Amino acid sequence: MTKKLSRKKEIFLCAINNILSGTCAEDCKFCTQSVRYNADIERYKFKEISQIVEEAKIAKSNGALGYCLVTANKGLDDKKTDFVARAAQAVKAKVHDLNLIACNGTASKEQLSYLKKHGIDSYNHNLETSERYYADICSTHPWSERYETCENVKSAGLALCSGGIFGMGETHEDRESLLSSIASLSPESTPLNFYHPNPALPIKTANITFDEAVQIIQKARTLLGEGRLLMVAGGRELLFNGKEKEMFDAGANSMVIGNYLTTEGLLPHKDKSMLAKLGYEIATSCDTL
Ligand code: SF4
Repeated sequence: MTKKLSRKKEIFLCAINNILSGTCAEDCKFCTQSVRYNADIERYKFKEISQIVEEAKIAKSNGALGYCLVTANKGLDDKKTDFVARAAQAVKAKVHDLNLIACNGTASKEQLSYLKKHGIDSYNHNLETSERYYADICSTHPWSERYETCENVKSAGLALCSGGIFGMGETHEDRESLLSSIASLSPESTPLNFYHPNPALPIKTANITFDEAVQIIQKARTLLGEGRLLMVAGGRELLFNGKEKEMFDAGANSMVIGNYLTTEGLLPHKDKSMLAKLGYEIATSCDTL
């Protein structure tokens, strides 16, 4: 009888590049990029494409398998769609074996198909919170638009990455509702963010404990099933620093490496040595999921 070789658990790393930062007129209460809250962040228009490519090379050398091109504002327009498409093409030409994700807000099927044609593999659009609670955290656009964009992603033939943020004052029922809405979309990848308070934002504190965060990961894994990416993204350093094993044991198999949109993460080499110490391998292909 042959003994089955046990494989080490692989962790999928994703890097984020904010290629247009911080000039959004919407009022999402969790977002430092809204101009309404005057958060102390760097704000800039279209980043140079050559810089985006160089940063993609660094992300790849840090072990990232996913590379996410993020733009501020509510959604895509022609100029932004063209910019993201050109950035994607340039990265694909110079850096191989990176899964390219675009995260550019609300988008039509046509805009998404255009991005796919130019090298984007996945689209990230989060539902953020439950449909019921959404009106409490954003008054300038409805939750239904978010859900609709996620459906557009699927009909454009892109892989869907959709998750949300926990700890913004929502109830336990809201959390259940958000998780089941996410699961109803069957996303290939789900980022779970845990709210990171910023003094400029209207939501002053995070109503989430470590135990609750672990339960959310467990529940998300149960609802989404195996063979999907479940990422702990924003807020990891606040809740799981030094307790990453619990996060992976609960069902997470992916995390962000490097900085977040407007918040610094841990240094990539620290994260890589944490993973090695815990006995995990860094995934080199999405095919091994
Ligand atoms: S639409 Fe996006 S960029 Fe604008 S405030 Fe909301 S989350 Fe931030």
